[in-house]
Amino acid sequence: MRALTMIFSMCVAMGLSLGVAAQTPKIPVVASFSILGDMTRAIGGEHVHVSALVGPDEDAHTYEPTPDDAKALLNAKIIIKNGLGFEPWLDRLVSSTETPGAIVTASKGVAAHTMEEDGETIPDPHAWHNLTNAKLYVNNITQALIKADPADEAYYNRNLAAYLKKLDRLQAEAITELGNLPAGNRRIVTSHDAFGYLGQAYGIDFMAPQGLSTEREPSAAEVASLIRQIRADKVRAVFMENIKDSRLLQQIADESGAQIGGTLYSDALASEGPASTFLGLFEYNLTTLHNALSTP
Ligand SMILES: [Zn+2]
Repeated sequence: MRALTMIFSMCVAMGLSLGVAAQTPKIPVVASFSILGDMTRAIGGEHVHVSALVGPDEDAHTYEPTPDDAKALLNAKIIIKNGLGFEPWLDRLVSSTETPGAIVTASKGVAAHTMEEDGETIPDPHAWHNLTNAKLYVNNITQALIKADPADEAYYNRNLAAYLKKLDRLQAEAITELGNLPAGNRRIVTSHDAFGYLGQAYGIDFMAPQGLSTEREPSAAEVASLIRQIRADKVRAVFMENIKDSRLLQQIADESGAQIGGTLYSDALASEGPASTFLGLFEYNLTTLHNALSTP
C-alpha cells in the first residue's frame, strides 16, 4: 500500500513538474525581417517565440505593415530592428502602437558604410553582409535576451559562443574564397546597392541600377549609363537578387554582354533550402560569387 502511495505521489510530482515546464512562457520577440528572426532563434532557442514581420524572399524596404503586425508589436517583450534607416515603417508602427516592448537595434556599434545619393550622404543599412558586423548583431541580440530573462543568461551565452564559432569559420572561408578571385573579376552588378559591406570587407566592387533602397525605380537614362559602364569596365557578371524581379537584370545582361552569375540573397532569407538560415545564406552567396568569378 505504502509503495502504491509512493508511486502515486511520484506521478503527481512528475505531472506537476512537466505541467510547470510546459507552462513556462516563452519570451515573445518580434524581429523586423527574416535574417534577424533567424539570428534571434539561434540564440534564444527554446526560451523565445520569434516572429519576423517581413518574411523570406520579401522586400523590407517597401514593406507595408498589417493590423496583425501592430498586434504582434503590442504583445512583444522585445522588438528587434536592424536600424540604419532600413525599416522606417517599423519606427512609425512602434510610435503608433505605443508598445511597451523593449526596442533593440541589432546594428548598434556598427561602423556605418555610407553612400552618396541625390547629393545626400545616406547610411547603408545592409551591415549583416560583413560577418564582423554579424557578430555585433548576435551580441546585441544576446544582451537584449539576457536583460529580459536573466535567469537563462548561461543558456543564451552558450548559444552565442557556438554561433560566434560558426561565424569565425565562415569568415575564414570568405577570406580564402573571395581573396583568391582574379583582380579583373572584382567588379559586378546586382539589382540594388545591398552589398556595400560585403564589397568593403572582401574587396569586391558592386554596382547597381537601384540605390540603397528599392523604393525608387531607376530611370531609362540611369540604366543606359550603367550598361555603358559595364561595357567600358568589362564587368564580368550580373547577379539577380531573391527579393527582386529579375527582368531588369536580364535586360542589363543582354544589352551589356555580361553573363548572369546566379542569384544572391540580399535582404531576406530563402523560404526553404540552404539559404533559409543566415549562415546558409552567407555561404550560398559566397559559393555563387566564387563559382561565377573564380575563373580568369
Ligand atoms: Zn536592401
